[in-house]
Amino acid sequence: MDRRSFLKNSALGGTAAATAALAAPAIAQGNRTLTMVTSVPDGFAIFDDAAEYLKNAVNTMSGGSLTIDKKPAGSLVGAFEVFDAVSSGQADMYHSAEYYFGGQHPGYYFFTAVPFGGTAQELINWYQHGGGQELHDELGQIFGMKTFLAGNTGAQPGGWFRKEIESAADLQGLKFRMPGLGGRALGNTGASVQNVPGGEIYQALASGAIDGAEWIGPLADERLGLQEVCEFYYTGGFHEPGSALSSAVNLDVWESLSPAHQSIIENAAMATHHWSLSQSLEGNGAALQRLQASGTKVMSFPDDVWEAFRVASLQAMDEFAGDELYDRIRASFEASRDSSAAWIAASDGAFTAQRDK
Ligand code: CA
Repeated sequence: MDRRSFLKNSALGGTAAATAALAAPAIAQGNRTLTMVTSVPDGFAIFDDAAEYLKNAVNTMSGGSLTIDKKPAGSLVGAFEVFDAVSSGQADMYHSAEYYFGGQHPGYYFFTAVPFGGTAQELINWYQHGGGQELHDELGQIFGMKTFLAGNTGAQPGGWFRKEIESAADLQGLKFRMPGLGGRALGNTGASVQNVPGGEIYQALASGAIDGAEWIGPLADERLGLQEVCEFYYTGGFHEPGSALSSAVNLDVWESLSPAHQSIIENAAMATHHWSLSQSLEGNGAALQRLQASGTKVMSFPDDVWEAFRVASLQAMDEFAGDELYDRIRASFEASRDSSAAWIAASDGAFTAQRDK
């Protein structure tokens, strides 16, 4: 037996023994409880709202025969350890944003957002009807997980700045917080990209440790109080045009579930994606009005800055070219996005241009 299969069998043996010891009465009644680890604290805007919705939807739809025990970041494993915890069987499932796992495989970036990528609508078109789910499954097979999209923030703003950005030259040396592939792209423009956890952004801006930061959107950004430490808010962003959240179930656990329970998780995840996106869009509209009323200057980047972002994003995307699965995911995503985007522009775009004149 090689080391890998030994570890896998040990982990499975441990899980089976623990399940038998702790959950025998529940299983005897046909009930299941899945431990779900997340990457944020309980009550965290948008992220945990989606995790909570997913948990409640599964519990209700199953009539209590399938329950989710949600464990916030740090209670069972750390925020970024959820991937390994579910892959190894230490936890049954996670709710997270998969661009945190680009180091495990760069294909994961596509299942949150890529710079100059797709809007939430374009992403879900690809995911459900353009081959995205199948590629997600293929990626999941490598790590022993079955994954679903389960939340979406919508397009994320370019972020908060203490000084106005008048040209691409202003990006040089700018100390800016931005994660994911977008952050790698921003680094290519000459900015100094910083990794600052969500809970520390306010302090980093207030102390002057960073010059600016992106977070999620008006609703969540307002709750962090970023309007108190920055005057300029660039509402259009290149880096996360429609960021999805995901939920993954350990593959052995998934295969042990009844078809009804599998369908409940799948449909609850889909409902969560829809609910979460509309929560963001509705909440962001109202929050932006409040921010403007209290003095935040709402801005747009000049064209040459957008051009710098475009060039830098392509460079960041090309860095992983040559990985066979990454290339296939990218080609599939881009083909679907270009096709559905063209139709959306010709239909919704043509309509809203007239309506909003
Ligand atoms: Ca963000």
